[in-house]
Amino acid sequence: MAYQVSIHPALDAGVKKGQANFGGGTLVCACTSRPVKVAIKGTVAHNHACGCTKCWKPKGAAFSVVAVVPTDNVTVLENGDKLAVVDKDAVILRHACKECGVHMYGPVERDHAFKGLSFVHPERFQEAGWPEPTFAAFVSSIIESGTPPSAMAGVRSRLGELGLTPYDCLNPTLMDVLATFAAKKAGTLKEA
Ligand SMILES: [Zn+2]
Ligand SMILES: [Zn+2]
Repeated sequence: MAYQVSIHPALDAGVKKGQANFGGGTLVCACTSRPVKVAIKGTVAHNHACGCTKCWKPKGAAFSVVAVVPTDNVTVLENGDKLAVVDKDAVILRHACKECGVHMYGPVERDHAFKGLSFVHPERFQEAGWPEPTFAAFVSSIIESGTPPSAMAGVRSRLGELGLTPYDCLNPTLMDVLATFAAKKAGTLKEA
């Protein structure tokens, strides 16, 4: 029998299109008592499925669903005492609930192309209608979390069926943002 990979429970049955005018809402962790609540003002951008080993994923999922918002639009509403930073040395300072493990927001604070942005998991919105993921990043990395290499062709074709173009790093838009930042920093690229 072929090895079955769950891409993500919110995507396995098909990618549900979000609303163009999604206005943000409240992210809630998985705790039944005293859940952490984080308000997001406005919509999310660059939503995607991510196969990296650092993102929070629901049980059984090979991929996370992760997007960015301006950090200025993030406000911890309730039970922020339950949050702790997963890895203080990482570019993304992922703030996780110490009890249930869900990552609630991850700001980028150091000098980086993504400085000022926070990574969030839109599936934790209590509201429906968040913009759907449009690509899959770091696909090969799911091998690092235990997917057999022999399953990868099937995973990539499934991602394609779902409309999530698979990339083994970020998508071209975001890779160009990173390279532009690096080139400007090195002085190779002058501001136009
Ligand atoms: Zn929690
Ligand atoms: Zn990731």
